[in-house]
Amino acid sequence: KTERLVELDKKHFIHPTTPPKLQAEEGSPLIFSSGKGIYAYSSDGEEYIDGLSMLWNVNLGHGNEELVQAATEQMSKIAYASAFKGFSNEPAIELAEKLAEIAPKNLNAVFYTSGGSESNDTAFKLSRFYWEQKGKPEKRKIIALHNAYHGVTVAAQSATAIPAFHHFAGSNIGEVLHATPYLTECELGDKSHPEYERSIRHLIEKEGADTIAAIILEPVQGSGGVHIPPEGYLQAVRKLCDEFEILLIADEVICGFGRTGKMFAVNHWDIEPDLMSIAKGISSGYSQLGGVMISDEVRQVIVNYDGVLSHGFTYSGHPTACAVALKNIEILERENIVDHVAQMEKVLQDGLNYLEEKHAIVTRTRAIGLLAAFELYKDPQENVMFSADVQPAAQVVDHCFDRKLILRALGANREIVAIAPPLIINKQEIEKMISIIDDSITAFTRSI
Ligand code: PLP
Repeated sequence: KTERLVELDKKHFIHPTTPPKLQAEEGSPLIFSSGKGIYAYSSDGEEYIDGLSMLWNVNLGHGNEELVQAATEQMSKIAYASAFKGFSNEPAIELAEKLAEIAPKNLNAVFYTSGGSESNDTAFKLSRFYWEQKGKPEKRKIIALHNAYHGVTVAAQSATAIPAFHHFAGSNIGEVLHATPYLTECELGDKSHPEYERSIRHLIEKEGADTIAAIILEPVQGSGGVHIPPEGYLQAVRKLCDEFEILLIADEVICGFGRTGKMFAVNHWDIEPDLMSIAKGISSGYSQLGGVMISDEVRQVIVNYDGVLSHGFTYSGHPTACAVALKNIEILERENIVDHVAQMEKVLQDGLNYLEEKHAIVTRTRAIGLLAAFELYKDPQENVMFSADVQPAAQVVDHCFDRKLILRALGANREIVAIAPPLIINKQEIEKMISIIDDSITAFTRSI
């Protein structure tokens, strides 16, 4: 059966973010057939630890029967209903209320989408719409950060800074600028700093605040390499936005719904964004759902508008997707999963510290909740990386895969290993992951 599926896969299925040559000629895809908890099972019966929650999204783990039941119940009532002009549905309304309750307190309304890219495109359009309504239509540009990943729809791709995505098919909208992240001292206004020219503040001054609609950032950068901002950074960006009348969009697509040990990552730094993109963990991947949470201020501008808000997707407010998300949040709260994540952070960080002590090439370990990474350097002390062709993280991730643990290699030289297991993972399971990584680093070290 597996052989036949592989054959058909190669022939008919164009995969996202995959080298087509690899798919067509060399590799055969691992075909997932089932899952339970932190484990995913392949069509040939192998058991894998899902160390990245698939794509940072299966937060409650696989095979959660309550989520299945929530979907089934809603589907048998009414699987889909339009939310366009004059129509609504129960799960979408109830979820909107729940989101308002758990989000930062200025965010009390939601615009639903089907995923993260659509959410960010929506946030950009709402930002521009907001400034048009405020009589400042020339405020159109978006500032994003280097290393950012905001998705692949045309506007989201323009904000995504990872070069392969940013340049793909030459599809940039323009009007998106990139600043270097985490120049804390510069953000605070020290113009004598040698890096000042790459800071957000410099970019605003150079372009003119009257041309800038919004700044978008991931509170903790995910696909760019799991970068946790230094203390004070997000507060400083919030201040900049207030100073220059710019909207702040927090992209919580990975971070939201408990991933970092708080319901939303912005809670760590106590900031309130104007718009907040959500997706992935909202439904633990059991249904395709995203959204943009909207501040009271922006909502007021929208509801005062005389015309039609000419933006929306067939699946905006999809009842089945929303029913699953409601149940997902109910379980997060009932089982105190966000607190559990905060506790597991220590176990994971202890494991990473152990790896750093044991292996001379392991460095820059970091974890916030169950979003973690470490880097592999030839000589961490001297800050010497492996040569670009080595791709140390890719090799270690391959060794982990051989040992039935799925992780992901990130970074320009594939030097970062990312770890983001389902939030329900326990101490023993984390220790098992660390032990596999330990063996994999040893195998890599022996091979070079
Ligand atoms: N924003 C962030 C931070 C992401 O990590 C992703 C996907 O990984 C997206 C946006 C895009 O989401 P989607 O793939 O659902 O369109």
